[in-house]
Amino acid sequence: MRRRLAAGNWKMNGTGAALAEVTALSGGHPNPQVDILICPPATLIQRMAEVARGTAIAVGGQDCHKARTGAHTGDVSAHMLHEAGASHVILGHSERRTDHGETDATVRAKTEAALDEKLVAIVCVGETETQRDAGETLSVIGTQLQGSLPDHGVNGATIVIAYEPVWAIGTGRVPTLDQIAEVHDFIRAGLVDRFGEDAQGIRLLYGGSVKPANAADIFAISNVDGALVGGASLKAVDFSAIISALE
Ligand code: PGA
Repeated sequence: MRRRLAAGNWKMNGTGAALAEVTALSGGHPNPQVDILICPPATLIQRMAEVARGTAIAVGGQDCHKARTGAHTGDVSAHMLHEAGASHVILGHSERRTDHGETDATVRAKTEAALDEKLVAIVCVGETETQRDAGETLSVIGTQLQGSLPDHGVNGATIVIAYEPVWAIGTGRVPTLDQIAEVHDFIRAGLVDRFGEDAQGIRLLYGGSVKPANAADIFAISNVDGALVGGASLKAVDFSAIISALE
């Protein structure tokens, strides 16, 4: 009942030449059985949306400001992302939380702004290695979810949750399948508890060193509805293999 989602997070990578990867990817997946999304840097969103028009590939932002317009030098609003052709936005990625001091309250305000613009918000949560070692993983995730999601408007059409252990991002290290399953089951239960049965439709992505070689095992876990992929989304050949594993 939940259509699976392969989401690529290009982070601060990619100039115009990288748009060729989108063309290659769409050519390889003309009629995919899953949703495909790429979130390039803001500078590429409009051009990527043009390249992706008429294909199965959706385009998203990596962040947005909570305000619609105003005196916020360097920021981009959800309204602007939407106008540029984005349908989704990643919010609360651990790199934003660390590099830009984003708190759960910040993420919640941005999520509300995204929903106001009819963007699907991909809200990221995840524990640090220290927190995992201290046995705090589930409490950390629970607190992040509670604080980062608005009270209203949360359902499978508006929100995607990405579980990304901070220590697994870009490191080549992944949790065990049992560890991923434990957190995803916990997130599902928490969402249903707070938002009711509608929350059964919310897609839960795993993120952190997803590669073609480990994708199939991760995607076999119940309550894993796809992946948020960083490094392995930059090249069509790698991302394509991950998409195929999800199909
Ligand atoms: P990675 O990044 O796939 O390169 O580990 C994932 C992410 O940060 O979304």
